Amino acid sequence: MDCIFCKISKNEIPSKTIYEDDLVKVFLDINPISSGHMLIIPKKHYSDFLELDEKINNHIHKISKDISNLIIKKLNPDGLRLVTNYGINQDVKHYHLHIIPSYKAKDNISNVDDIFNKLIK
Ligand code: 5GP
Ligand code: ZN
Repeated sequence: MDCIFCKISKNEIPSKTIYEDDLVKVFLDINPISSGHMLIIPKKHYSDFLELDEKINNHIHKISKDISNLIIKKLNPDGLRLVTNYGINQDVKHYHLHIIPSYKAKDNISNVDDIFNKLIK
């Protein structure tokens, strides 16, 4: 299947990966809405959130909390949004959860490399 997120999960396409394990990968969005905007994907292909089974759903939920805590600690946002798109709102048809930080001050959407370094060190 020609799926860009399957290729990212197999490292056939590079990504700024923040975390991964056997089941999921977390990486920075290539076109961020805000500084630290990232995506959690299951390594296995599920088209959308309706296809997820309980096991992977629970795991993604746990990882989303761990990653949110990391973002809060390292980037000090004023808020976070966790978003899943579906249907005409979903461009990439491999399930992904957006984690999108919000900042009260103007966000100049820092260089992705700077954000990556802040998150991993
Ligand atoms: P959707 O509308 O499907 O929920 O959003 C897809 C997201 O994936 C967009 O925010 C887009 O910037 C991101 N994206 C698409 N292709 C790539 C890619 O090759 N690498 C990364 N890191 N993000 C991607
Ligand atoms: Zn896929």
